[in-house]
Amino acid sequence: MAGCEAAWRVARAGGRAVLYEMRPVRATPAHKTAELAELVCSNSLKSEQENGAPWLLKEELRRLGSLLIGQIAPRTRVPAGHALTVDRDLFAAEVTRVLEADRAIEIRREEVTALDPENIWIIASGPLTSDALAAEIGRLTGSQRLFFYDSISPIVDAESIDTSIAFAASRYGKSLDGTNDYLNCPFDKAEYETFLDALLAADSVPAHIPEDNPGEDRVNYFEACLPIEEIARRGRDTLRFGPMKPMGLTDPRTGRRPYAVVQLRSENARAGSFNLVGFQNHMRFGEQQRVLRMIPGLQNAEFLRYGQVHRNTYINGPALLTPALQLRARPQIFFAGQISGVEGYVESIATGLAAGLGAAALAAGEPVRMFPRETAIGSLCAYVSGADPANYQPANITFDLLPKLENPPRDRKLRHAEVCRRALAALEQHLYSHA
Ligand SMILES: Cc1cc2nc3c(=O)[nH]c(=O)nc-3n(C[C@H](O)[C@H](O)[C@H](O)COP(=O)(O)OP(=O)(O)OC[C@H]3O[C@@H](n4cnc5c(N)ncnc54)[C@H](O)[C@@H]3O)c2cc1C
Repeated sequence: MAGCEAAWRVARAGGRAVLYEMRPVRATPAHKTAELAELVCSNSLKSEQENGAPWLLKEELRRLGSLLIGQIAPRTRVPAGHALTVDRDLFAAEVTRVLEADRAIEIRREEVTALDPENIWIIASGPLTSDALAAEIGRLTGSQRLFFYDSISPIVDAESIDTSIAFAASRYGKSLDGTNDYLNCPFDKAEYETFLDALLAADSVPAHIPEDNPGEDRVNYFEACLPIEEIARRGRDTLRFGPMKPMGLTDPRTGRRPYAVVQLRSENARAGSFNLVGFQNHMRFGEQQRVLRMIPGLQNAEFLRYGQVHRNTYINGPALLTPALQLRARPQIFFAGQISGVEGYVESIATGLAAGLGAAALAAGEPVRMFPRETAIGSLCAYVSGADPANYQPANITFDLLPKLENPPRDRKLRHAEVCRRALAALEQHLYSHA
């Protein structure tokens, strides 16, 4: 995804791009064809509902002349309500055809294992980056700054939390700066037992990559990022002694320690949203909504992101990248796509476009420009380069990545419409200034 958009962008800027793709010489555990831009799972490029965050990102990409979103997706679209959904075979075939026909792009079917320091590189090797390249990236960045598994906790919109039930407190009153860092959702025994039964019975997504576990019918998870349903299967009290432990907390409504607790931590880089601490899981999204709304205080929760656990190679962007997606220590190396820490097809395409523009500018001896912070694409780049490196997790585009409005309308629809209007105006201004 990212590599295709980046190569095309370099070519459109008058440069010459060499696009390396290791398939079919070397397979990944998820791709099934040798085509470029293969959609490995769902064929949806998410909602086209006007004034939603996924729409905004796609609209910006269209205005920026994106090949994949602006040209190929509309040509290969299939009906799917409000979502931009494509025929996956046609989509990949079209991207492959257009790039193969482009005289400024050379496609080499080989595995990259080392990066020649003489060249400008865009590393867009995705969540299933080959081991040899991952080792090279580890060498360039310091291997402790490369992650191989994602364990993503759900995130809820702060406004949807019932704070007459969820209470602000840090365990034993300890906090870094004297404020209460967490919201706590307290369970009594009956609520805990009901929640546990629902969790154990919930429908989970099968492990995506069976090749990770040859000969096994269960996935071997890392102990540090066990999904909550796996912890629950180890015994009815395991969650209560693990991520749901109530120690050091007193529910102001009862004056007693709750039977169990789910802690919500404010997301530093995301104004107005809370992370369910330690609640990585791989229940189906509909099931997550149903089961997690059984948590006291979250009965009306709006989920900005659902939990996931899967193989995902990505760098610790905030420790390594500039907002223009260049490695701080080696600015001739750009990162784009899932390996930079964005999550999703369209987010990958967006960062591919940004890195392609940056690499073309660098090659031409021009300044590498950043997109305005008010835009969705600029906010994604700001997140992967500026989030908290200690708690870094990949991100989809959501409104909480964009800067808050100075005078936000109370109505959520109006607020989102205004954020989109501001983003598109900033993008137009940016395009006009750099035309
Ligand atoms: C199993 C699975 C399911 C997913 N499902 C979804 C989904 O439903 N929706 C969604 O939005 N996202 C999904 N994702 C995330 C998805 O992978 C990304 O959204 C998107 O494909 C990432 O784009 P990318 O350009 O970063 O990487 P990719 O599209 O994966 O492209 C990277 C390319 O680099 C090649 N490559 C890797 N190493 C080398 C090397 N050393 N040399 C040369 N080539 C190399 C790979 O063969 C691959 O073609 C899924 C991921 C996985 C693993």
